[in-house]
Amino acid sequence: MKTAKTDVVIVGAGAIGCAIAYFLSRQGVKVIIVEKDSLGDHASGHAPGILNPQVAIPEYVDIMLPLTTKSFQLHQELYPQLLAETGVDYYFRRSALLGLAFTQAEAQETKDEIGILQKQGFETSWLDGDAVRLIDSRISPEVIGAEYSQDAGELDSYRYVLALAQAAEKYGAEIRNGRFTGLKRKGAKLTGVQLSSGEIGCASAVLAMGPWTGQASSSLGLSIPIRPQKGQNLRVRAPGPPFATLLAWDASYNTTTRQDGLVYHGATHEDVGFDEEPSAEGRDELINSLVTMVPSLVAAEVVLQTACLRPLAADGLPILGEVPGWNGVYLATGHWTKGILLSPVTGYIISELILGKAAPLPIEPFSVARFNSARA
Ligand SMILES: Cc1cc2nc3c(=O)[nH]c(=O)nc-3n(C[C@H](O)[C@H](O)[C@H](O)COP(=O)(O)OP(=O)(O)OC[C@H]3O[C@@H](n4cnc5c(N)ncnc54)[C@H](O)[C@@H]3O)c2cc1C
Repeated sequence: MKTAKTDVVIVGAGAIGCAIAYFLSRQGVKVIIVEKDSLGDHASGHAPGILNPQVAIPEYVDIMLPLTTKSFQLHQELYPQLLAETGVDYYFRRSALLGLAFTQAEAQETKDEIGILQKQGFETSWLDGDAVRLIDSRISPEVIGAEYSQDAGELDSYRYVLALAQAAEKYGAEIRNGRFTGLKRKGAKLTGVQLSSGEIGCASAVLAMGPWTGQASSSLGLSIPIRPQKGQNLRVRAPGPPFATLLAWDASYNTTTRQDGLVYHGATHEDVGFDEEPSAEGRDELINSLVTMVPSLVAAEVVLQTACLRPLAADGLPILGEVPGWNGVYLATGHWTKGILLSPVTGYIISELILGKAAPLPIEPFSVARFNSARA
């Protein structure tokens, strides 16, 4: 490849890279997205796309809630906008959510979480088992109660990434197939991005390589402690009407009926490295959890099983912002279980930084400096 030039190179065409490209290019910034595989080929194209802005881990509430709530609001604004810009419908919708409890311990934990969430301003309440089955009689008779929340949403994540990428292209962004191998600098200032097939000169670069972002550690001369966490999903065909709400259980499993009439159910959480192969164990775990939640689905036919990788930082929080010691290099990764939800706010924050403005939300807790305090 001949040496090319642009304003910003974004590495990674997942939800995060494409959202940043969209926010930048619609403001007139010249962007090239570099992707080693295809658009949305990994987690961003396979995630069930559930948008749950609630933050139930008490120690993360203060730092994560501004991000999740802002992003949920941005999703609601983006949907009509992207639909008008591209014609790609990604079926965004607001959904209610039932977080099921089977045991007294789960019920107590759920009620404690409801207390935390109500303090955050979420409209959420406890329903007993009979009230839960009035909403959907197929829910297991073993369920003793559930959290009922109106503050959730969902979308088709592959079509969402497609809409972001097409809209960005409409504003002049370019998507290239290529593999990032390193960065070029003059002093602290970035001058270009090195690919296996050539170099692209640029003033700014964003590394949004999902679970692979750690591979840039040596180029940057600091530690980016991101690891892959495998998750598997099923799509099943089952008789009966669509579920009226999202169903959730055990902080792991989510079930919903989508516009194609299929029931989507996920996901496993597996620490097995860069393994994206669906497995028989994963399938069994998902069928068991699905049938535990909705026993009548024992007769459902499995139509599709997928596996992909969440980008998980050592402390479970995103890594966002300019890299200390580098002028013009930004990280946007580590969104773990909420990367589809958090992609608009990430696009908004990183684009503002690149345009030389202050971060619109507090991002100090997300700096990669937290893992590199001696160097920072
Ligand atoms: C099973 C499962 C269910 C999930 N469910 C939800 C959900 O319901 N709601 C939600 O909000 N989130 C969910 N998530 C999380 C969400 O999918 C991720 O957080 C999000 O997709 C991460 O997006 P990303 O763009 O950072 O990474 P990715 O989607 O992994 O994209 C990174 C891209 O970078 C490219 N890349 C990597 N290295 C290089 C290189 N050297 N050169 C060029 N390109 C490179 C990759 O090929 C890839 O396309 C789920 C995740 C999983 C696994």
